[in-house]
Amino acid sequence: MYTTQMDAARQGIITPQMKIVAEKERMDAEEIRSLVAKGQVIIPCNKNHKALHPSGVGARLTTKINVNLGVSRDWKDVDMEYEKVRSAVEMGAEAIMDLSSYGDTRSFRRKLTADCPAMIGTVPIYDAVVYYHKPLAQITAEEWLDIVRMHAEDGVDFMTIHCGMNRATAARFKQNKRLMNIVSRGGSIMFAWMEMTGNENPFYEHYDEILDICREYDITMSLGDACRPGCLADATDTAQIEELITLGELTKRAWAKDVQVMIEGPGHMPMNQIAANMEIQKTLCHGAPFYVLGPLVTDVAPGYDHITSAIGGALAAASGAAFLCYVTPAEHLRLPNAADVKEGIIAAKIAAHAADIAKGIPHAADWDYKMSEARKRLDWEEMFRLSMDPEKARRYRAEAKPEKEDTCSMCGNFCAVKNTNRILDGEIVSIFDE
Ligand code: SF4
Repeated sequence: MYTTQMDAARQGIITPQMKIVAEKERMDAEEIRSLVAKGQVIIPCNKNHKALHPSGVGARLTTKINVNLGVSRDWKDVDMEYEKVRSAVEMGAEAIMDLSSYGDTRSFRRKLTADCPAMIGTVPIYDAVVYYHKPLAQITAEEWLDIVRMHAEDGVDFMTIHCGMNRATAARFKQNKRLMNIVSRGGSIMFAWMEMTGNENPFYEHYDEILDICREYDITMSLGDACRPGCLADATDTAQIEELITLGELTKRAWAKDVQVMIEGPGHMPMNQIAANMEIQKTLCHGAPFYVLGPLVTDVAPGYDHITSAIGGALAAASGAAFLCYVTPAEHLRLPNAADVKEGIIAAKIAAHAADIAKGIPHAADWDYKMSEARKRLDWEEMFRLSMDPEKARRYRAEAKPEKEDTCSMCGNFCAVKNTNRILDGEIVSIFDE
C-alpha cells in the first residue's frame, strides 16, 4: 500500500508509527501525517528494525538527541559498547549512531537493530574501508553502493551519506582556503578518494540508486556535511554554504522519491552566527529537519566540549534545529568512556530541554514547574526524582549533609525558601538561635 512514511503521509495514510509519534509528542496523528508529507518531520524506521520504538524528528516536535558509539581499532571492547548503548537508551537518547570501524561491524550492527528500541544510524563510508580490507583508492563506486545496501538490509534507520562533497564542492573547498580544512571523517575519506581516483563522488553520481535503496527499506537520508566548519574561523565560509546549496538540491530529489531527509550541520561556530545559520539551512533545504553536531561555540575548551556543545546546541535548537548530536568531555582528546558518555548525554538533554521551552513546545516547562514546586516545599526526595541526573543530585546532597534536614548546607539556617515559607505561614523566624 505504501513504501515509506512519507509516501504514506502523502497518500493521506496515518501509519502505526505516526500514531506512536503523535502519542509521544501529545499531538494529533493527522498533524504528524501532514508534517511528514511536507518533509518537515521525519520518522526514521527501517522496515527491518523490528525492535524500534519510533520517534519523530522535526518541526513542532521535542528536540531529540543522538549518541555516537562503536568499536574502533583502539577500542575493541564490544561488550562495553553494548553497555553504553543500554545506558544511553535508559538515559533517554532517542538515537544511537554506530560508528564502528573495526572488526565484525556487521554482527554489532545487527545486534543493535535486533535489540535496540532507539533509532539506529550509521555512516556506511567508515564501514566500507573496514569491510573491503583494501586501500581506499581501490574501492570501486559499486562497492561503496553495496555497503549502503548491506546497512539497509541490516535494519539501519538513518544513514549519513556525504553526497554533498562532489567535484564542484571539492573545487570550491580547494580555492577558498580554510584553517581546519575538512574535519568530517566521512567527508575527508570521500575527498581523498575523489582526489586519488579523479572520479566524481559515487554517492552523488549514483544518488538515484541510493534513493531507491532508501525507498525500499524506508531509510532516512542524513545528508552529511563534509565541509562543516571545524573551528570558529571557518564558520559560514564558502565551502560550508556551497555544500549546503547542494544538500538543498538533493533534498528535493529525495522527496521526489518519497525518501525522508534530514540535513547535518555545524560544527564549530560563534554564538552570533548560529541563529542565522539555522535560517539559511531552513531556506536552502526547504524546511527539512536540521541535525547539528554541536555547534561548539569556542575552540579552547578540550575536556569541556560537552559544555561548549550544549551552549551551541541549545541556541541552535531554540532557533529551529530538531536533532542534537551529543558531544562528550572526551571530544578532540580520546574515545569517550562510560562516564564521558553519561556527561555528554546529560549536557545534550539539558540543551534540548532548554530549547524546547524556548521553542514553546506545549508542556515542555511542566517538568520545571514541578521541580520548582518541590523546591518550594523543600521536598528533597521529589527533587531527586525530578532531576535530570537523580544519582548525582542525591550524591551531592549526601556529601555535605546540613544540620537541619529541611535545608541544605549552602545556606543552612539562612535558607531563604524555608524562612519565607515560615513567615508566610505566620511563624517567627529567628535564624541565629535555631
Ligand atoms: S539552604 Fe539555600 S540553597 Fe539550600 S534550599 Fe535553602 S535557599 Fe536553597
